[in-house]
Amino acid sequence: MEDVLRIGGVGVDVLAATYGTPLYIYDQHAIEERMEDYRRYFHSDVLHCEVLYASKAFCIQEMMRLAKRHDLSLDVVSGGELYTALAAGVDPKRIYFHGNNKSPREIEEALQAGVGTLIVDNVMEGECLCAQMSQRTGEVHVLLRVNPGVTAHTHEYIVTAHDDSKFGISIHEQEAIVRLIERFSQTAGIVFDGFHAHIGSQIFEREAFETEIAILGRFLAELQHTYGIEAHSLDVGGGFAVRYTDADAPIPLPQLCQTITAACERQKQLHGLALERILIEPGRSIVAQAGLTLYTVGFQKQTAHRHYLFVDGGMSDNIRPALYQAAYACDVANRMNDPKTVRTCVAGKCCESGDVLIEEVMLPPCQAGDLLAVYTTGAYGFSMASHYNRLPRPAVVFIKDGQARCVVRRESYADLLRGEDVET
Ligand SMILES: *Cc1c(COP(=O)(O)O)cnc(C)c1O
Repeated sequence: MEDVLRIGGVGVDVLAATYGTPLYIYDQHAIEERMEDYRRYFHSDVLHCEVLYASKAFCIQEMMRLAKRHDLSLDVVSGGELYTALAAGVDPKRIYFHGNNKSPREIEEALQAGVGTLIVDNVMEGECLCAQMSQRTGEVHVLLRVNPGVTAHTHEYIVTAHDDSKFGISIHEQEAIVRLIERFSQTAGIVFDGFHAHIGSQIFEREAFETEIAILGRFLAELQHTYGIEAHSLDVGGGFAVRYTDADAPIPLPQLCQTITAACERQKQLHGLALERILIEPGRSIVAQAGLTLYTVGFQKQTAHRHYLFVDGGMSDNIRPALYQAAYACDVANRMNDPKTVRTCVAGKCCESGDVLIEEVMLPPCQAGDLLAVYTTGAYGFSMASHYNRLPRPAVVFIKDGQARCVVRRESYADLLRGEDVET
């Protein structure tokens, strides 16, 4: 191996010199390959299959363009994400609009733009939508978000009858659901397609999805056989795990897709469901592993128990360690062959004791000016970045065929002042 880490054939030292640090670096080929893999493996002979990229994981115009090029639909959760998708030229019919508290303005923007599908999250939203649609022409498809009482996060999932999640209507509130669907059917312009559920994030267990789909299958059967309500579409959400460190062993994508399609086919057959179409919404698992963050090493210090290595970013460009105790792997990217002899704590430069990117990792001895690469930061890194401590947001570069392209320029100090036009 060379001493300097390369991404898509380009040395990270060259990228640091050209674009500065901190820097989000994406292997574009890896993103596109992942999109193609989802399209290839999420397939059924019985059901029509559709893949939505959950854009909140990493929402910039260039990502939207890649999703479009690879024939993925998009899931957006706000007027801002919708605006980004439309600006990138995405067909509004391929956009699915989520969110538990869409504002009247956001709903209006979505209808105005001709967004294909709204995912209605609660009864109040459903009633507002009916009222809004009765005032206008046009058509919108609707999926109703239900809560199957399965919540999954990393290595655990639980099944409960009483779910206090802020998202979706509990499947146990059958009467409210039936009443709302009746309202939909009485409202011109609303086409009720079926249901949506999303059980969590960074899920490693196939059984979690099998359980979710079995519960949803029984729920669909009851609605169909008791109330004559036919759901033609079922969106089972995202949350598919990725590998952050060697401790993570995500379900390989072919098996994951097969688990979901087989479980849905089985429910259709078992209950004689009217189901025709299934959807999934991967976010993290499309972009996380294609991205890394490159930092420059600054000062170091030795305490009684720790060797600290400080980098020129931190929780402002990656909040996940502070927010979820998320674990990451890293390397000193210009010393790839040096023996890793120093037990190191990698900390950021923000004014918070919790601004630690990696609690403990073995690294080679290094010095100021070295480059540190933190892997698998492609999802929920840039998209959750903040201006905390007035740090300008880093640039984003995409690498493909040995060529680097800046897709988001580094913010300047002047950018930080934008909008501060004080009223007099
Ligand atoms: C966040 C979210 C996703 C994507 O989750 P990932 O963990 O990034 O795959 C999909 N659907 C809904 C409704 C979500 O809220």
